[in-house]
Amino acid sequence: METRDIVLGVDIGGTTTSFGFVDREGTVLAEATIPTEGRKPAQTLVPRLAARAAEVAAGLAGTRLLGVGVCAPNANQNTGTVENAVNLAWDPVTDLRGLVRQHYDLPVEISNDANAAALGEMLFGGAKGMKHFIVITLGTGLGSGLVANGQLLLGADGLAGELGHVVVQAGGRECGCGRRGCLETYVSATGLCRTLFELLADSREPSDLRTVPYQDLTAKRIFDAARAGDPIALAAFDRTARTLGLKLADAVAHTGPEAIFLFGGMAAAGDLLLRPAQAYMEEFLFPAYRGHVKLLPSQMQAGSAAILGAAALIWNRLAR
Ligand SMILES: [Zn+2]
Repeated sequence: METRDIVLGVDIGGTTTSFGFVDREGTVLAEATIPTEGRKPAQTLVPRLAARAAEVAAGLAGTRLLGVGVCAPNANQNTGTVENAVNLAWDPVTDLRGLVRQHYDLPVEISNDANAAALGEMLFGGAKGMKHFIVITLGTGLGSGLVANGQLLLGADGLAGELGHVVVQAGGRECGCGRRGCLETYVSATGLCRTLFELLADSREPSDLRTVPYQDLTAKRIFDAARAGDPIALAAFDRTARTLGLKLADAVAHTGPEAIFLFGGMAAAGDLLLRPAQAYMEEFLFPAYRGHVKLLPSQMQAGSAAILGAAALIWNRLAR
């Protein structure tokens, strides 16, 4: 029987850690989840993960494990450290790669979620064959992975490409990073809610969302209201698309991508966000770039995207 090469892709999230065994074509052969127990140190997660992964791997006959890719919030691919991990009460982890290697005598790569998403898109998604592209992940925040010349742009300290924290408005909205006016405070699910509230306050136009308390407001509710023609919800999407288009135009000037992919729930709002953002980006672009950059929805399936992205860290390394 022929041996099938596989890698282990691990996505460490605030509450759940998911993992899967992935072959070279991006097929997830088996997957499972364990609770992250993010209040406990990273040193207790890794052995639990390795034990559960061994149980799952036992069901995979005729396979050979080639490496382990791990994505975790704020993980630094250059240094192997994890500091200020969102939703995890971890003390700074100085060597996550080393912790994983205690259980696997194999290549181990770590990365933050957005960079893993970019590699996943390159190996298994819509960026196959592309050497220059950007992936923007839109959720409660905004993450980004930049690929130039076929390689992730990591920068001198491994922290390059944090587009969520470029300032779009000096002195603007307070951001989780401690500064004001960052892109993700305007363009993200929470940014959309903040914009909607601002628009409600500024106008007297009727809107079904006027009776919704702020803590009950979600991007999905605004999406549904916009679909039903609510003028304030439509205006909130338009303003979000404009801010996104403006900053994407800047990003194009920095890295010269062939395409920009939007990943995440809000990216599905095609005619409400993606298409107007493309139009605004064109408007803001340096004329020489106009008409050259496609804004596209990610081709990664939401459910397995994180595992595939983590696995891509290893498949990409082995391909080099
Ligand atoms: Zn910020």
